[in-house]
This record gives sequence, C-alpha cells and structure tokens, in this order.
Amino acid sequence: MFGRAPKKSDNTRYYDILGVSKNASQDDLKKAYKKAAIKNHPDKGGDPEKFKELAQAYEVLSDPEKREIYDQYGEDALKEGMGGGGRGHDPFDMFESFFGGSPFGGGSSRGRRQRRGEDVVHPLKVSLEDLYQGTSKKLSLSRNVICSKCNGKGSKSGASMKCAGCQGTGMKVSIRHLGPSMIQQMQHPCNECKGTGETINDKDRCPQCKGEKVVQEKKVLEVIVEKGMQNGQKITFPGEADEAPDTVTGDIVFVLQQKEHPKFKRKGEDLFYEHTLSLTEALCGFKFVLTHLDGRQLLIKSNPGEVVKPDSFKAINDEGMPMYQKPFMKGKLYIHFTVDFPDSLTPDQVKALESILPPRPMSDMTDMELDECEETTLHDVNMEEEMRRKQAQAQEAYDEDDDMHGGAQRVQCAQQ
Ligand SMILES: [Zn+2]
Ligand SMILES: [Zn+2]
Repeated sequence: MFGRAPKKSDNTRYYDILGVSKNASQDDLKKAYKKAAIKNHPDKGGDPEKFKELAQAYEVLSDPEKREIYDQYGEDALKEGMGGGGRGHDPFDMFESFFGGSPFGGGSSRGRRQRRGEDVVHPLKVSLEDLYQGTSKKLSLSRNVICSKCNGKGSKSGASMKCAGCQGTGMKVSIRHLGPSMIQQMQHPCNECKGTGETINDKDRCPQCKGEKVVQEKKVLEVIVEKGMQNGQKITFPGEADEAPDTVTGDIVFVLQQKEHPKFKRKGEDLFYEHTLSLTEALCGFKFVLTHLDGRQLLIKSNPGEVVKPDSFKAINDEGMPMYQKPFMKGKLYIHFTVDFPDSLTPDQVKALESILPPRPMSDMTDMELDECEETTLHDVNMEEEMRRKQAQAQEAYDEDDDMHGGAQRVQCAQQ
C-alpha cells in the first residue's frame, strides 16, 4: 500500500498521554483532552512540553484517518507524511479552537504572551555602484537587552512587589479641578512603575540593571547588500530590536535608499546613460569610452556610415543591472543620444554643405506666388520658460479668484 512497510512502532503513547484506552470514543477523547489541557496550560503554571504533547495526541486521535494510520503504523508513519499529519501545529491554536477562545476569561491569554516589541527601521544610503556590485556595511547600533544578571527580573531575588502607586494596575487616575463643581478624571500609566504594576525593593534591586530589567548593549550588524537589490528594498534582522521582558523582540529593518548617480539612471533591471554627440560625430561616426559601475571601460562606437539622430537610443545587452538573486543575468544598458548642433554657419560652410547634402525639397509654388504671401519674423523662444510663466499667471488668477470670492471675475468682465 505504501511501497514499503514502515516498522511496527509504538502506537499507544498518544492514548497514554490523554489517559484513555485504545478503543476510546471521540467523546472520551474530547473529555480527556479538555481536562488535561486546562490542567497543564502554561498560563496556569503547567508544563509547556506536556501541553504540546496533549495537543499533538488529540490532533491525531480526533482525526479518524490519522488515528487509523497511527493505530496501524505508529507515530513515525505520521511523521513521514502519511495522512499529512505529524507536523507540529501550534498547541495554543488547538486549545483555543477547542474552547472557542481562552477559557480563562478576559482577553486572549496568548495576546499577552505574544506581545511583540516594535520593529526598528533605519534607512540605509547606498550608491548605484553598491547595488550593481553588492557590498557589505558594518553598522554599530546600541539596543536594550534583557539583563543577564537578573534575567530581566530587575531584582536579585527574582521577586517583585505590587506597585504601591497604582496597586499593581499599572495605571493611575488623576483628578483635575476645572471649576468649582467640575472635575476631569484622567488615566495615565503609573510613573512609579512605568506602567508595569510592579516595583522592586531598593535593597533587592539588581546591581547590573538598577532594576530596569534591561541594559544597553552595543552591537555591530553586518548588512549584506546583494547584487541587484532595489531602492526601497528591506533587509531584515529578525529579533534584533530592543529586548523587553515578556515580549517577542521586534526586528531591525534596513531600508535601502539609492543615491542619485551623476551618469546612470536605473529602471528595474535596465540602466540608462546620457551621452551627447557633436553634429560631426552624429553624421560621420563616433567612438567613446564609457566607464561602467564596476570600473570596467567599455568602448562604444558607431557602425561605419551610420547616422545617429537626436533623442535616439541604442542598447547594449547584458550590461544593465544584475538581477536580484540571479546576478549572472543582467538587463540592458540603454544609451540616450543628444546631438549638439552648431548655433550658426558661415555662408561658405552653407555652400559646402549644400554641395554634399541631399538637395532641398522643391517648392510647388512659383516665385510670383510666394511674393504674394505675408512676411513673418521668427523669434527665439525658450519653450520651458514660456510654459512656466503661463502656468504661474494662471495660478495667480486662480488665487485671486479664491481670495475675492468672485470679485475677480467681475474685474475680469469689466476688462473685457
Ligand atoms: Zn505603579
Ligand atoms: Zn538586572
């Protein structure tokens, strides 16, 4: 049935854990688990290992398919994946799903156990070269760690007392008199115990952390920036943030921030490089050296007889950014060409050019007809400048309109 017969192994342990017989009914199993799980719950001082075993045993025996495999072949068969069981489910999930929440009242008992410390997020500036070649950066950070001398208890004896300031609630209520017959009640964390509800006797205070339960520690983290990582990508050090008692330590997260590069721009896996050609180079050919992000010198040249037009692109395969976690694969390197035209030409230059360039297009109008057309003058304009000015004017008119609630409109009408 299973290809090979697993060894006949222990198949009574789960029944023993729950304290039932091998022919126990589903009802018997339920009752046995319920009783034992409450008794052994870690929140009630039970042994977490025993609690986990109970959940495991109940999970298998309450599932008829798994129970059959277990009865026939034992625990190992389930661990080998037959019937898909044996993976350790969270015993607290099992417990709470059984009871539909915590049976101990109040909020979820797990909520407190699982309280999570805050993540600490640091931006990390990197150059495009760093992202191209990969790098590692050592960063020194200071953080709170649980005091090793008192194991985070804050006291030599491990004991703590209920805070007298708040009677152990961690909160204090203060009353403000706002007037002869008015008062305001405000609740805030107790300042004597910092909201923890406990204090430590002065004589019992841990000498290392002075009762603070945590001490500052310097730590050097080595951040590995891998080839091809992106701007905004996160590098996480799980559980390296500030430690605090009864708290799952948060993560330290570095967020990569790529600095602008003077020559290259990046779009995903591709790189863009700006290059300006003179008109002579654009028409008659060019050759230049491009220094890549890793310092390699690439010789870039045109094909014989090729003309490069202004605002055109050319691409070099496999010279773009390396792909993240596949650094042997690279995107493209695009070169964007701008052509620097001369501002003016002498009559001799015009004559020389006309003799070699293709002839001008012939007008289909006669000289007489052209003489009858209206004369115009072409002015130089800075188009960007013009657009900016027009936009500013429009904004001004809009603002005025806003200020005067329609007054401006009347003015405008009067002007027309
Ligand atoms: Zn207090
Ligand atoms: Zn201490």
